[in-house]
Amino acid sequence: MSCPICGRSACIQSFHSLEEQDLHEQREAMPDDVALLRRMVQEGALEILALKSSLKNAARALDNAGRELEAQSAYDAANP
Ligand SMILES: [Zn+2]
Repeated sequence: MSCPICGRSACIQSFHSLEEQDLHEQREAMPDDVALLRRMVQEGALEILALKSSLKNAARALDNAGRELEAQSAYDAANP
């Protein structure tokens, strides 16, 4: 009998890390419907794009806040 994770005959599931075993279990729990899987991948990709965009906006806002703080500090130092 071959390993359910890698398919090798000289391997068993418990030879793999717990993380690999968890990932294998998650794959086993996934539906076999290819159209549904494609939709899930698309939705995941869109979610990643939205998260990247949010991250970019947050970084920009943080950058602006830092610059305003620096300008305020410089102003305060020049006008005691
Ligand atoms: Zn294996």
